[in-house]
Amino acid sequence: MDRVYNFSPGPSALPLPVLEKVQTELLAYGNTGMSVMEMSHRSNMYLDIYHETEARLRQLMHIPDDYAVLFLHGGATMQFASIPLNLGKTGKADFIDSGNFAHGAAVEAKKYLDARIVASSRDDNYTYIPCWDGKLNDDADFLHITTNNTIYGTHYVKLPEGNAPLVADMSSNILGEVYDVTKFGVIYAGAQKNIGPAGMCVMVVKKDLLGNASPICPKLLNWAAQTENESMINTPNTFAIYVAGLCMEWLLGLGGVEAIEKINQQKAALLYDFIDNSKLFTATAQKEYRSIMNVTFVTGDKDKDAAFVKFAAGKGLVNLKGHRSVGGMRASIYNAMPMEGVQALVDAMKEFEMQA
Ligand SMILES: *Cc1c(COP(=O)(O)O)cnc(C)c1O
Repeated sequence: MDRVYNFSPGPSALPLPVLEKVQTELLAYGNTGMSVMEMSHRSNMYLDIYHETEARLRQLMHIPDDYAVLFLHGGATMQFASIPLNLGKTGKADFIDSGNFAHGAAVEAKKYLDARIVASSRDDNYTYIPCWDGKLNDDADFLHITTNNTIYGTHYVKLPEGNAPLVADMSSNILGEVYDVTKFGVIYAGAQKNIGPAGMCVMVVKKDLLGNASPICPKLLNWAAQTENESMINTPNTFAIYVAGLCMEWLLGLGGVEAIEKINQQKAALLYDFIDNSKLFTATAQKEYRSIMNVTFVTGDKDKDAAFVKFAAGKGLVNLKGHRSVGGMRASIYNAMPMEGVQALVDAMKEFEMQA
């Protein structure tokens, strides 16, 4: 069966060499005679996979020893609750509202503490990253940001610098862009965009932030307890962690995040340059803040948008429909999307524009 170019925002395309390796190892991993899915999470063979995965992530992101790495349940959304429950020492926290997920994180946190939105671009349908100048509070337990806004196709070009620990939802650009981990107190990301299969969340937590969890924090959401237990208070998502480890091995083989970031920039530039010179398509995000992971664009006519999505699907370019709150199209071009896929999309857009 032929594979398509899958522009899905998440769960998203995985690197083909990874899928092939999973296929080879599916029935019997190494010399164990069993699938990774069938192994005890406490067995030495599985612990080797777990430790290898953690080591690869540390290598890719240059994570120092004073940060814990966790592989948890519940995707990114579960952490919208675990963040205030683990960090809400004084009961006040700040949020920059740059998209639906950023907003959702603040709404969930409000159940547990005074969640203050210090900047928002909501009134402009999140077409840019809002300005926080002079509005960061020194008394906040943390400042929450979303580094890449998956739905609206924007990303931060400059991180806020406040006194509160920076907590970042990096679900849609982790491992796709270089970040200095030491600038953050917490980094977390649902796996299904740029890490591996869905149903798992990667967390990177500065160790000196551990140990302040609220007494009502559920055991599984307690980061200090999860750190002590290597994410295995209960059975973790063993298979997703294994596949994520293979994706990380693949990325290391390409030269790591530094190398893929350059490729990602080239992919995004190819697409944005075409859009900027097109008479039919326009980009929806403000130029300065354009994401290199999610490229949002419209024709300005709903029927034409739908016709293009259908036209592209006929060429094996699938999942290009934009989120309902933006409309139009969204091309998610995470690490696993090759340059050839983006070129094929540009070619299809050219062809469609000529006949439109
Ligand atoms: C996809 C996404 C989420 C939600 O992730 P789940 O794993 O489904 O909970 C949260 N934040 C951002 C930025 C996302 O892109």
